Parts: sequence; C-alpha cells; structure tokens
Amino acid sequence: MPILEEPIKETLHLRNYIDGEWVDSKGEPNDVTNPATGKLIARVPVSTEDEFEKAVNAAKGAFYDWRRTPPLARARCFFRLKELLEENFEELSRIQTMEHGKTIDESRGETRRGIEMVEVATGIPSLMMGYNLEDIASGIDEYLIRQPLGVFGIIAPFNFPFMVPLWFAPYAIAAGNCVIIKPSPHVPLSQTKIAELVDESGFPPGVWNVVHGGEAIASCMMENRDIKGICFVGSTPVGKEIYRKCGETGKRVIAQCGAKNFLLVMPDADLEKTIAACMTSFYGNAGQRCLSGANLVIVGEGLNKQEFDAFYEKVVNAFIASASKIKVGYGLDDSVQMGPVQNKQRKERILGFIQKGIDEGAKLRLDGRNVRLVEDLPDTCFLNPTVFTDVTPDMTIAREEIFGPVANIIRTESFDDAVEMIHSNPYGNASCIFTGSGKWAREFQYRVECGNIGINIGIAAPMAFFPFSGMKDSFFGTLHGQGQEAIRFFTESKVVIQRWF
Ligand code: NAD
Repeated sequence: MPILEEPIKETLHLRNYIDGEWVDSKGEPNDVTNPATGKLIARVPVSTEDEFEKAVNAAKGAFYDWRRTPPLARARCFFRLKELLEENFEELSRIQTMEHGKTIDESRGETRRGIEMVEVATGIPSLMMGYNLEDIASGIDEYLIRQPLGVFGIIAPFNFPFMVPLWFAPYAIAAGNCVIIKPSPHVPLSQTKIAELVDESGFPPGVWNVVHGGEAIASCMMENRDIKGICFVGSTPVGKEIYRKCGETGKRVIAQCGAKNFLLVMPDADLEKTIAACMTSFYGNAGQRCLSGANLVIVGEGLNKQEFDAFYEKVVNAFIASASKIKVGYGLDDSVQMGPVQNKQRKERILGFIQKGIDEGAKLRLDGRNVRLVEDLPDTCFLNPTVFTDVTPDMTIAREEIFGPVANIIRTESFDDAVEMIHSNPYGNASCIFTGSGKWAREFQYRVECGNIGINIGIAAPMAFFPFSGMKDSFFGTLHGQGQEAIRFFTESKVVIQRWF
C-alpha cells in the first residue's frame, strides 16, 4: 500500500478552463488510470472544435487589455501564482505520481522546475526591454521595442505533465500574450490543477485557457489563423508534421522532439560517481525523459586491448550491479526508486524493442521483463531496469528512441569513433561525457552536434533562465523555450527611427 496519501480519492470529471470559467465539454470522455494501481482516477473529454473556437475567441478578446497591462502588474499575477504553487507543492507532486507513475521525488523535482519557470517570468519588466541608440544619423534616434503577438497554442507530451507547458506559458503570458494549453490526454490532471490556481491568481479571464483533447484539437490549433505560434513538445514524427503545417499557416513554432542520448565513459572517469549519475539518467522517470541516457558508450582511448577489456568489464559489472538494485513500485511509496511506465501500450512498445535487441544479437544481461515489485500491484505498466551489452550502433535498439528503462552498452576504441557514432544518429537532444580530463571535455563540448551537453552530468537539463536546446531531429524551429529566448519567441521586434524638426 502507498505510504503517502493519495490526493485523488474518487474519479474526477475534468472540464475545460475557458475565459476564466470551468466548462463541461460535449466531447466523449476517455479514462485516465493510475499506471501503478490500475485505478480509474479521471475522465477527460475529447473537446469539440466549437469548444476550441470559444477558447480562441476568449483569448483573442482578452489580449487587447492584457497587452496594455503594465509588465509589473502582469508579473504580480505570477507572484501570486508562485505562492499558490508553493502552498500546493505536495499535492501537485502527488497528482503527477498518480497520473504519470513517476516516483514522488521525481514529481517533487518536476514541481520545483515548473515553479522556477514562473519565478523567472516575474522578471518580465527587465526580460522584455528593447534597446536604443541616439544619433544613428545627425539628430535621428533609433530604438527597438518588443511587442506581444496575441494567442499562442501549447501542445504537451505525456512525460512531464506539470512542467512542460510551464516551459512556455509563463513567458508567453508575462510578455502580454494569451495561451491555450492542450495537455496530453494521458496525463491531463496536473494542468487542470494548475488552472485552478491560475484562477485564484488574478489573471483576467481568457488569458490562460486549458482545452483537453488529442490530435484533433492540435490540428485545430495549427489551422486557426488567430493563433500566432505553437509550442510543441513530443515525438519527432509529430513535431516534423507540426513544423510543416505551421510553415503553411505562417505561424512561429518551437517543436522540441524525440531523442536518443549517448553517454560516454572515458577511462579517466570517476567510476563511482559516473555509475550513480547513470542510474538516474537511464532509469529516472522509468527512462521516459527526452534527456534520459539511452546508449552508454565505453571508450578505450589510450588503453591497450588488455587494459580496455578490464575497464569495459569493470564499468559493465558496476552498471548492472547498480541497476539490479533499483527498487520498483508505486511512486507514492517514497522508498521506491522507479515507477511504472505511463501506460500499457508504452510497455508493449518497450517489450517490442527488447525482443528486437535479442533478435539482432545484443546480449540481454539484465532482463527487466521479469518484473519484481516491492508491493502487490498489477504488473500492467511495470518493467524492471534492463541492460543490453554487445550493442552495435546499427542495431534498432541503438538507433531508435525506446523511451523506457533500457540501457544499451556499446564499446568503442577511440573518442573520435564515439563522436562519429553520436553524429551518425539522427537525433541531437543531449550528449554527456564522464571524464577527468579537461581536454576531452572541451573537445566534446566543441564538436558534438547536440543541443544540451553534460560534462560529468547525466541529465543535461537547462535551468529556467537558459534555453532548452536541441538539434537535428530533436528540434525544429529557431528560438527555444525558457528564459530570454522564449521572450524573443513570444514577441515581435519593432524598430522605430525618429527625428523631430
Ligand atoms: P506525442 O508526439 O505522441 O504527443 C505529443 C502531443 O502531441 C500530445 O499532446 C498529443 O495529443 C499530440 N499529438 C499526437 N499526435 C498528433 C498529431 N498527429 N498531430 C498533432 N498533435 C498530435 O509524444 P508523447 O508520446 O506524448 O511524448 C513523448 C515524446 O516527447 C518523446 O519522443 C520524447 O522524447 C519527447 N519529448 C521531447 C522533449 C524535448 O524537450 N525535446 C521533452 C519531453 C518529451
């Protein structure tokens, strides 16, 4: 039984939050179940096109006054929201565990990261400033101002139900825009709970809206001429399609997509600390992070064959020993270290990859299909940590995004080969190196084509005041979410040149 109390005691019937009101949807509801216990926790509507149109009209209507509200007054709504998020910190975190499956500590980390976005957005009076220069010609001055654009749509993935929409919404709204958030239909509760707190924070009706639904609502967003831009986080095929459609309708877009992240271990790495960092990287959030480790590359740079064999075995054995100790169960038991994956289909997809790994000749050294749980729970969505060795970069498990608790261990002779291996993969979200050498660390940061680089860090997650980057098939767009770059994305730069006779 869970040690911590469940905040959701009976099935919730979710509504949309449009124009400052909670509105019932006419759309068919879908079930939301707790992946750890299998219990029904909510029914979420697939909203209709009409309901979405109402949200767009509300946001459009609210924009006129909101953009004229002084930035400091806009920031005050975020100060109130921050206080309410802090007051509800534990409940918000437990809701994430119930809808997603992650452990309570992972949920608390996610809540903290989300609140940090709100904190950074309160700096909007400074963040949004333009610049100027006197006398660009005799008696003529020039300046740049940043103006909000109108209504933005946010399309969220299932893996960070609380945090991901906050990579965008606070910056968009603080800059004077209005937003419509479409949460993932698999995990719609966190955004509903945030909207309840938004409702108490003094934002005018229509500024912050939440409309539930799936692909159809996302398509409405893309086609709607009143939506100025889209922030999408999700898989690469969908992100590519969104980028294309936004091009056709002239919208700006941030599309943060899938990943296949490589972690290099150099012979001079601190092994104990490296293995500890790897456990969180590969198995944190049950491997369902776009920054999760996927391929562990053990590099034999500078070692002879015998030394490399010994080093490789040492890393592999330490990795497997640690992975096999991870406690799997319900995340509301705070001794649990890994929760279930988010739904049954996800688990089946991961099982398919494990079979593919075996079929293609990788060695399954730790078989996570033999589920061992610390509590008596249905094993529908659970997997244990899995480790493959003897993986080669051309294998399906090494190339494609598995998005589950599966580690592939690859062996390579040299640093150059390892970099080449990273570059041969289509994704470019994150790459990390574990080394005691400044030379390899600098080479890695300089050469590797990935948006987020970790040096002796297993999860290269940028803080709220840095952009969340990404390259190649992991990102489509120009400006990124979070911090100063988000403010540029959510505003138009207008240049004024003036002279007075
Ligand atoms: P997904 O692409 O299935 O869904 C993401 C969102 O798009 C959901 O809201 C979904 O309803 C909507 N959607 C689905 N199909 C659509 C379509 N055809 N047209 C328009 N919208 C559609 O992704 P997911 O499974 O929810 O999330 C996991 C993926 O997200 C992984 O690939 C992961 O790497 C990626 N991700 C990336 C980042 C990043 O910053 N790069 C962060 C988190 C997750």
